[in-house]
Amino acid sequence: MPGQSRKRSISRRSILKGGAGVGTAVVGWLGSRAFIPKLQPGNLAVAAEPADDNTNLTPAQALQKLIDGNNRFVEYRRQNPNQTTARLREVAQGQKPFAAILSCADSRVPVELIFDQGLGDIFVVRVAGNIATREDIASHEFGTLVLGAKVLMVIGHSRCGAVEAAIKGGEFPGAIGSLVEAIQPAVDRSKGQSGNQLDNAIKANVELQAKRLLVSPVISELVETVKLKVVGGYYDLDTGRISVIS
Ligand SMILES: [Zn+2]
Repeated sequence: MPGQSRKRSISRRSILKGGAGVGTAVVGWLGSRAFIPKLQPGNLAVAAEPADDNTNLTPAQALQKLIDGNNRFVEYRRQNPNQTTARLREVAQGQKPFAAILSCADSRVPVELIFDQGLGDIFVVRVAGNIATREDIASHEFGTLVLGAKVLMVIGHSRCGAVEAAIKGGEFPGAIGSLVEAIQPAVDRSKGQSGNQLDNAIKANVELQAKRLLVSPVISELVETVKLKVVGGYYDLDTGRISVIS
């Protein structure tokens, strides 16, 4: 029947129950013990939950938490939260990051610092040009569906060398051309727009990569059921300010 199997509910539980021990394999891969307590209900030591429990945050509140942290960073009011030895020990038992980020690998965009967050707060994937490859999408499926991040932000930044390379074109050594290839559609889309060509392409690239993340049925279903918000952000290297752009 048409459409009958189109929408198969994908839940954290279904992943954990997945055939051939998929859940167990995923846990082993990332070293997360966030949901092991459910598998071992009698083990109280393992069942300890992080005190900074973000489980009840809404996607809007999670986004606001990021924005508040960036405001503290920019305004020299940093709290450097969740960076104590106690927090280290706490999150060693399980992680519940409230946010997930796909950001450029650029050394000037250290995610936890610019959002004034600490250990166990943000699930981060960094890759030059903040491109959403299959593996990046898979990582964020894990960060959102399994670990429970409520907001997923794609971050581009001013003077991004990867986007600049895509604009300039030409021959690239090694595998660098694969980055350029992933960014090229954004460069093409932003051509002819008024304003700064590089900034336009950087913002178009954020939107393009966010759309690629939303192609994932796991991520799009979380968005449709209002369990997750996917947004784009632009980081200004000069001011340290993140602007939400989509
Ligand atoms: Zn960059």
